[in-house]
Amino acid sequence: MPDLQEIVHEIADEMARRDDRGDVATYIPELAHVDPARFGLAVVAADGTLACGGDCDLPFSIQSISKVFTLTLALGLAGDSLWRRVGREPSGNAFNSIVQLELEKGVPRNPFINAGALAVTDVILSGHPPREALGEILRFIRFAAQDDSVFIDESVARSEKATGFRNAALANFMKSFGVLRNPVDFVLGTYFHHCAIAMTCEQLARAGRFLAHSGRNPDTGCSIVSAERARRINALMLTCGHYDGSGEFAYRVGLPGKSGVGGGILAVAPGQASIAVWSPGLDESGNSHLGRIALERLARRMKWSIFGQ
Ligand code: GLU
Repeated sequence: MPDLQEIVHEIADEMARRDDRGDVATYIPELAHVDPARFGLAVVAADGTLACGGDCDLPFSIQSISKVFTLTLALGLAGDSLWRRVGREPSGNAFNSIVQLELEKGVPRNPFINAGALAVTDVILSGHPPREALGEILRFIRFAAQDDSVFIDESVARSEKATGFRNAALANFMKSFGVLRNPVDFVLGTYFHHCAIAMTCEQLARAGRFLAHSGRNPDTGCSIVSAERARRINALMLTCGHYDGSGEFAYRVGLPGKSGVGGGILAVAPGQASIAVWSPGLDESGNSHLGRIALERLARRMKWSIFGQ
């Protein structure tokens, strides 16, 4: 059995030495200040063992990784009727593309592109003021991570609100088709705030454990979703979790994963481990450049690809 902690250290050391780091996202001004030299990796194995490397205890902006948790919550609230509001197909377009949305009459392709995540946020909002919906999202993530110190970075939320013209365009467009039911401002405000949740790699890896273990946290025995639902969320992460870089991620890493423009990736090795990696520099699809390379190394050395060894 390969030594997980040793492998994690070797990968973190290699990533610290590399100078091909990609580019930090600048379209959300607050994210532009993040040091591109940061790198963190945390792996929680099935028996609860934690292996950490680099800056795995520094909080970073999880951004679109929050969409995994909002999807889980919305499925809990709406069940399969959620799929009348959002599709399940990879988009093949940029994460914030508006073109496809027009062709498909305001129904987003999947819950992980921005338009789809806005529709999911609208489902969570239904009947609640934004503050309550946001409270529910934060409580759920804290519960999944078993850690009440997870917080919302208000400066990132404000920064995105001030510059989120494209998300506002997507939301207004969907509203015009009747896909959003709540006021556009409520949906955007809740969305910007859940994207602004900050977590460490360790917290994120812990929060993803239910996806690696058939919907349950193996430590507490607590069931968060059914095994079938966990399997389906993993399927969506594999096919749609990296926008139009999802094929490349599946090809190279072979694990369900969800990235965010803060440079984080949550990846799931079913039955084996929950993994979080963070390196702020992004590739041209908006996914963490070194994060993907680190996961490729880890999956190969641990023989964790879901497609075989
Ligand atoms: N909050 C970001 C946005 O809406 C999320 C994008 C991402 O992480 O991919 O643009």
